[in-house]
Amino acid sequence: MSKHYDLIAIGGGSGGLSAAERAATYGAKTAVIEKGLMGGTCVNVGCVPKKIMWYAGMLSHALDDAKGYGFDVKRGGLDWQKLVDGRQAYIKGINDWYHTYLADSKIDEISGTATFIDAKTLEVAGEQYTTDHIVIAPGTVPVVPDIPGAELGMTSDGFFALTEQPKRIAVVGSGYIAVEIAGLLRALGCEVTLIIRSETVLRGFDAMLRDVLMEEMIGAGIKIMSSMQIEKVDKADDGSLNLHCDGGHTVTGFDELLWAIGREPLTADLNLEAAGVEMDKRGYVPADAFQNTNVDGIYSVGDVTGQAALTPVAIAAARRLADRLFDNQADRKLDYENIPTVVFSHPPIGTVGVSEEQARKEHGDAVKVYTSSFTPMYNALTEHKTQTAMKLICVGAQEKVIGVHMIGLGADEMMQGFAVALKMGATKKDLDDTVAIHPSSAEEFVTMR
Ligand code: FAD
Ligand code: NDP
Repeated sequence: MSKHYDLIAIGGGSGGLSAAERAATYGAKTAVIEKGLMGGTCVNVGCVPKKIMWYAGMLSHALDDAKGYGFDVKRGGLDWQKLVDGRQAYIKGINDWYHTYLADSKIDEISGTATFIDAKTLEVAGEQYTTDHIVIAPGTVPVVPDIPGAELGMTSDGFFALTEQPKRIAVVGSGYIAVEIAGLLRALGCEVTLIIRSETVLRGFDAMLRDVLMEEMIGAGIKIMSSMQIEKVDKADDGSLNLHCDGGHTVTGFDELLWAIGREPLTADLNLEAAGVEMDKRGYVPADAFQNTNVDGIYSVGDVTGQAALTPVAIAAARRLADRLFDNQADRKLDYENIPTVVFSHPPIGTVGVSEEQARKEHGDAVKVYTSSFTPMYNALTEHKTQTAMKLICVGAQEKVIGVHMIGLGADEMMQGFAVALKMGATKKDLDDTVAIHPSSAEEFVTMR
């Protein structure tokens, strides 16, 4: 006989866990089906290990910078294995915590791969489970290009499995993952070549952020090769990798190659057809504003929806869905506008709202832009200088703030508060009326002219 639940989440990542957790707080009988490690991409091969590696990169810069402050230190060797062991122990702590937390919250963990039998029944390892509500949250996996020799490269999953520090690495791609991994590896002392297919990284971000980041990456010693597409990969006699590109160019001499060219949804194994759930042509499961799919009682949240692929978005959408289903909050849904985001590049980027390009397209001459760029005070005594650049985008006579952008030290921790201000409808005058915190980089946002 099958076991019956009020809600089952497919995927123990940010979205699935949050839906089950919130529903359970309302007394719903819930289960999470996970085929891998509890915590999903973010905890195991995403945000968490990435941020640890980013901190390592920041420390590496700090060791170089310390000399300027009078410290008799120099950057010695990096014990990569120790760094990785520490990181993985930290992650295991989170995995273990989840098991206890789920048990304490009376949420059942079901291990294995979920497939649909019908719109109310799932099967895992030969067992069937029925449920009133199903949350589809299987996330995404990295894409590998369909070219000869692509298997000689790794993806971000492979990067987190590296047991040795790569010496000479080619990173292919221009999105979040490419710039983050290229930046941290360079900070840790690797020779890094970033190969991008267009002229710029981080398409869609404000041009100021893209331009300054590219200058900073080049200044840090990353070789950026733009407008290049790789058509074939093979090995040289010495075992190093050759990248054969369009236009007859060949780039040689890499120990490792990392593909960071986007991700695709993990929906092929779900047998969604059995439940009549529609996917788009790329395999994403579209949701309406309330996370409903086209089938009653079946919802999609997180990366599988094809919308903003960020952990807090998956969590927020899932929690609001559970509020709606189990706490009679009929209008509860996530507002997907003005989602703040940080790119953990070196230096980091923080951004919320529209880019200047978007603002001008939508509001024309009603847009007013304020900018500031400077060398942060931290670098006053350091040999290596970094740039900080900030931009406020305002619109209309009231100068309502519709975009806040920053690249520079501290941007990662600064943007959350400005996101609150923007969401509340702050105007330039509201920022001007706020007393500055001195000396800081953040104070520039309330003193721009
Ligand atoms: P996931 O976290 O991917 O979870 C889905 C889970 O479902 C997986 O554990 C998978 O094993 C499981 N699953 C799939 N199919 C089945 C099935 N049929 N049966 C059972 N289980 C199944 N976001 C940020 O906000 N900040 C960051 O700094 C950040 N850094 C990132 C760095 C990297 C390298 C990557 C790859 C991503 C990063 N992200 C970051 C994005 C973030 O990880 C995702 O947005 C988030 O994990 C999405 O959550 P999810 O629940 O939709 O999917
Ligand atoms: P992104 O979508 O950010 O970037 C993928 C990039 O790959 C695009 O910029 C695209 O370039 C390029 N690309 C696509 N196909 C090819 C190809 N065939 N050859 C060369 N380049 C190609 O994906 P990521 O995988 O970097 O990250 C996935 C998502 O995870 C992000 O969008 C983000 O939502 C999330 N994430 C968030 C992080 C954070 O919050 N800090 C960190 C990491 C990931 P082009 O611009 O030319 O189209």
